[in-house]
Amino acid sequence: SAAEAGLYSASDQIILLSKETVEPVLVNSTAALVVEFYASWCGHCISFSPVYRSLARDIAEWKTAVDLAAIDCAERANKRVCNEYQVTGYPTLKFFHAYSKPGALGQSFKGFSRDIMGLRHKIIDKLESHGELWPPACPPLEPISQAELESFFETISVRHLALIFEMNDSYVGREVTLDLLHFENIEVRRVLSTEVGLVTKLGVTDFPSCYLYYPGGNFTKLKVNIEARVFYSYALKRLPGVVRSGKPPPVIKDVHTNSTEEPWRPFNSSRVYMADLESTLHYSLRVELSAHPVIRGQALRALKMYISVLVKYFPGRPIVMNLLKAVNSWLKQSSSEVSYEELSAILDNTAQSPDTALPDGVRWVACQSSQPHLRRYPCGVWTLFHVLTVQAYNNHSTDPEEVLSAMRNYVHSFFGCRQCAEHFENMARESILEVNTLMSAVMWLWSRHNRVNNRLAGALSEDPNFPKIQWPSPDMCPSCHTVKPNGDHRWNNDRVFPFLLSFFSSSSILPDYLE
Ligand code: FAD
Repeated sequence: SAAEAGLYSASDQIILLSKETVEPVLVNSTAALVVEFYASWCGHCISFSPVYRSLARDIAEWKTAVDLAAIDCAERANKRVCNEYQVTGYPTLKFFHAYSKPGALGQSFKGFSRDIMGLRHKIIDKLESHGELWPPACPPLEPISQAELESFFETISVRHLALIFEMNDSYVGREVTLDLLHFENIEVRRVLSTEVGLVTKLGVTDFPSCYLYYPGGNFTKLKVNIEARVFYSYALKRLPGVVRSGKPPPVIKDVHTNSTEEPWRPFNSSRVYMADLESTLHYSLRVELSAHPVIRGQALRALKMYISVLVKYFPGRPIVMNLLKAVNSWLKQSSSEVSYEELSAILDNTAQSPDTALPDGVRWVACQSSQPHLRRYPCGVWTLFHVLTVQAYNNHSTDPEEVLSAMRNYVHSFFGCRQCAEHFENMARESILEVNTLMSAVMWLWSRHNRVNNRLAGALSEDPNFPKIQWPSPDMCPSCHTVKPNGDHRWNNDRVFPFLLSFFSSSSILPDYLE
């Protein structure tokens, strides 16, 4: 489509506007909107696009209060719309209040900074400039006073109230308020350092710092590694009873509820299980591939690469490795096309070679889900390829792109979720060329998986028992997280990399629940 030809794709968390959709999206929207008017040929726009994309990921949880959109004014069909909005230079950012009227031109961001934090703060300022037509989903952003706090629980019944104590010019309180906007059983308010009564009552000495306050005046300080936005948001989302709005609360699995379902397999969520990896291979090779009765051309090349990478790097049991080798040698001497039927005969070892087999059926462990349609196979696919990138690193592979190319081609040719395949291909096309070392392959897959987690947080495909997080969480790897000098979250890549090496290493894969 025309929108896809611009600087953004459907995989970015940005509404792609066109001549037809500008009005329906902007007029009377219940959320405020920031619109970037750009021209796809303009150098400034091209260099700004990764910033805008990161901003969209950074405030993805604010969508129902304020959302981001973009329109390509270089697109002929859009030219008139851009003129109507009186856009004369690119990029132009405009803020549209919720419930904007037809013909509203929006407020331009004047001389906006090109860093995410500056833009985020500007958006909060604009949001606060809202008069009476406050976006209904947007929680109050003004500071709470001692008097208001004393009567707070008379009007609002909520399990947790988080108070963020901060200086007047700090945005952390408002950012966390917006970050928690889609979560129930929690309210967040900022308290200014000048609210002396409260500061004294709670004995607050650090600004910012966060306290949980309960009816009757009990309070506790929220424990975090670093007093900063992402750490507060993460910790608050994990308080007991805090759930994403509109999601059923997490269920504690009762093994007796459904006798036809397999019993729940207890597992350690910070470990990888061979049973998940073998289940993934079973599903991929026996179920997903079987949808392709004849495999040729690009798909055959994809299959060959996939099997070859598995033979080299899958840290499997000898019996499984023998089977993968058998498939690999058969593929190597195959002609220009293969039939799934022949492949299936090899997978099922109809030649009856001893010590060669891929267990039939699935036994999900760390990829178990609260409902049959969640997690499982896609969880296994991610886990498998993380393990393979780490193995390629440990085995000093000579080709840094080998595993990622195999994944990219497998997903493109075979992954049953076609929309996932399209999103993955968009990410690969955008940045896979940056991968030029074995280490950067490991890191690329980790960071792109986090982008997918960011996009899917709160989606229907999210299992309420396994919320999508930016992984690993601060409690899994405290030193993986740090802050920039300006206080914004930063991954400590020097720590993330060894964490990934150890998490996905062959020596830490657990053999539990194997047949
Ligand atoms: P998963 O995201 O599947 O993760 C599995 C496990 O990997 C986690 O439990 C955790 O232990 C670990 N992990 C989590 N994050 C990371 C990370 N950043 N780095 C390393 N390890 C991590 N679903 C859609 O609805 N839309 C899509 O567009 C979409 N695209 C996909 C593209 C691909 C290539 C794949 C493999 C899957 C895609 N999915 C998509 C499915 C989705 O990403 C999840 O796999 C699925 O929702 C199951 O989620 P999960 O909770 O099991 O965790």
